[in-house]
Amino acid sequence: MNFGIDDLPVRDELRGKSPYGAPQLDVPVRLNTNENPYPLPEPLVERITERVREAARHLNRYPDRDAVELRTRLAEYLTTTGKHPLGRENVWAANGSNEVIQQLLQTFGGPGRTAIGFEPSYSMHALIARGTGTGWISGPRNDDFTIDLAAAERAIAEHRPDVVFVTTPNNPTGNAVPAGTVLALYEAAQAAKPSMVVVDEAYVEFSHGASLLPLLDGRPNLVISRTMSKAFGAAGLRLGYLAAHPAVVDAVQLVRLPYHLSAVTQATALAALEHTGTLLKYVEQLKAERDRLVGELRGLGYDVTESDANFVQFGRFADSHAVWRQILDRGVLVRDNGVPGWLRVTAGTPEENDAFLDAVRELKKEQS
Ligand code: PMP
Repeated sequence: MNFGIDDLPVRDELRGKSPYGAPQLDVPVRLNTNENPYPLPEPLVERITERVREAARHLNRYPDRDAVELRTRLAEYLTTTGKHPLGRENVWAANGSNEVIQQLLQTFGGPGRTAIGFEPSYSMHALIARGTGTGWISGPRNDDFTIDLAAAERAIAEHRPDVVFVTTPNNPTGNAVPAGTVLALYEAAQAAKPSMVVVDEAYVEFSHGASLLPLLDGRPNLVISRTMSKAFGAAGLRLGYLAAHPAVVDAVQLVRLPYHLSAVTQATALAALEHTGTLLKYVEQLKAERDRLVGELRGLGYDVTESDANFVQFGRFADSHAVWRQILDRGVLVRDNGVPGWLRVTAGTPEENDAFLDAVRELKKEQS
């Protein structure tokens, strides 16, 4: 007998849905999930091994439930790079920024409440909303993928959402949101409800501009979420964090599972933070490669969205999925995010980017 999900008494809103996930295909060049292409440097691997060995000696005990040392080091990193003083009371950490976002929606969203995002944007915001029973409102963008501020303010006034998501730099489009727009959205959200504004800065280290951390000053309903998955080249570590008013840090602890961050995770993240300087040098290389991709793709005649991230959105295609397949046939996996007419390529190593550019050059030649 074929017994499946729909035969179980699952929640109605989960029926007929598929789990989130980009294809993990075994191809020579994988540029589809905005990972950092550089493996961690060997001295850092050594340091992780040392720290994890030490942590292993105490695995009979639960880890530090409040991750105090890790939050202190993250606050130092934000203070140094974000030009805004923060202490560990301003910082909270979890298993990837996805878990940070989940905890925020468990705290400030939930049944009978709503969240808004301006789409296309990071699709997990809507999915985590669904998983936490939060209603989802899809806000508008302009044709060039900038946020249509007047329309966004109208949507906030009309729906009075409990949580407003702003992703900057935005995924999958790559463009950053000006600070003035975020401030205006914050004001609109406070006038309507008041509600929490969550700025998702997963890619901010790759940006031409600065982090919005200084906006936290005097804005207790603003949260900035960050991750070690991209700039730190540690997607496998699963470490995300947020910066906010200490009251927000206290509030998310009402929903976090006790001991959610394992001792191994904390030890590994602490080791990575000791090597911030080296890891940020890779970020500089990736920014240069991102800019090269933008220039070369434009040179080939593609439309390219301005990118402040470690990926580039390019188009326009009558059938983007067919083009995705043609690029894959040449051994390069890019991302079809379902934005009609557009595809997204992650900046890889110079060799990986060359392979991608060769593939699209070939496609252009075939079409002419
Ligand atoms: N926010 C954005 C905008 C992202 O693109 C991603 C990952 N693709 C995340 C958050 C989640 O990252 P992680 O859970 O690995 O920290």
